[in-house]
Amino acid sequence: MHLTASGIVLKVSQSGDSDRFCTLLTDSHGVISAFAKGARSMKNKNATATAQFVYGHYELFRRRDTYIIDESQYEELYTGLREDIFRLSVAQYLCQLTMELVPGEQPAGEYLQLMRAALWYLSENSRHPLLVKAAAEMRMLSMAGYMPDLVMCRECGAYEHDLMFFVPSTGRISCGNCGVKRREYAVKLGRGAMTALRHSVYADLRKLFAFTLSDESLKQFSEAAEAFALSKTEKRLSTLAFLKTMM
Ligand SMILES: [Zn+2]
Repeated sequence: MHLTASGIVLKVSQSGDSDRFCTLLTDSHGVISAFAKGARSMKNKNATATAQFVYGHYELFRRRDTYIIDESQYEELYTGLREDIFRLSVAQYLCQLTMELVPGEQPAGEYLQLMRAALWYLSENSRHPLLVKAAAEMRMLSMAGYMPDLVMCRECGAYEHDLMFFVPSTGRISCGNCGVKRREYAVKLGRGAMTALRHSVYADLRKLFAFTLSDESLKQFSEAAEAFALSKTEKRLSTLAFLKTMM
């Protein structure tokens, strides 16, 4: 079976002397594993487009359970990621989160759009990396079936309040008047962080990263999104653990 796909290389493993084994997020087949023969040799025709974080176009054929990359062409290399270990680590984490959440063998065009935008903003360094991380976490989880309910206070229906609480385990919010149950873990959100959290879930995907936040609001937004991601992923992601060592 032969197929053409656009995708991002989420992960690369070495295989044999000069081969690569790539995990790709593709528009047509979700997350797949693909073998690229000889791709670790810089002279190989697939060397550039099979490196990690590249967005490109791939001609693949399938032999039993494995995809084999026949031809490839890169479109975006996100070279700015190499300039900064923190931004690179956020990108690593988002790639691992994608592998956790996105199924294989089904279309994943929206996930690809999300990851292309996230890697672009991280590479360009035009948004705080923690803003990119948090918005991508919230959106990816929503797309993966964990849509939180951020419309109003779960108790009284209030839409806005100077202080709101986000409860990661349920994905719901309550206002400062109603509060949360005793022993229920909740993240405090001021107006800026509340707006950001709603935006990350409900905004047009093309405008997902089109906002900025004060330091205090970013801290709250970031904490809420990470707690939500932790509550919805079963295993602890090694890339997140590494990222935390730098924060
Ligand atoms: Zn309330």
